[in-house]
Amino acid sequence: MLPESFERNAYIAGLHEKHARILPPDIAFAVDDGWLQLIADSLQEIEACLERHDWIAKATVRQIKEKLGDLRIYVRPRRASASFPKALQADLFEVQKRFTGKSIETCEQCGDPGKLDNFDGYLQTLCERHSDQRRAWIAGGRKGDPFHD
Ligand SMILES: [Zn+2]
Repeated sequence: MLPESFERNAYIAGLHEKHARILPPDIAFAVDDGWLQLIADSLQEIEACLERHDWIAKATVRQIKEKLGDLRIYVRPRRASASFPKALQADLFEVQKRFTGKSIETCEQCGDPGKLDNFDGYLQTLCERHSDQRRAWIAGGRKGDPFHD
């Protein structure tokens, strides 16, 4: 579970500071707080990959988002006309696959162990507590905030 004092904006500012080489200042973190640690770990490995292949100055993170219940982080060459060498592409794919795998076992709300499930047509990875809250919210006509602690 996230600490009570968890500050999303401060955490994201820290990631920007640490990964300024690959994170555009205006990039959206389009996920809930429970996945921010996964993103931090993933960025660390993405940077290591890019460094190993000597691409750190020529690559950028394009998107960080939840899609169909799992985490996606897209890394691309800075120049639209460039493309990654095959070996780098393969390394990045391996990192992405591993973190996508972790994301479907991690509650997007709180970071506790969770599972990917279908909530009335909407896929999301949640722990038991947050799954219950989401189902209750759907059953209750979707009023207010689905998650309340
Ligand atoms: Zn949760």
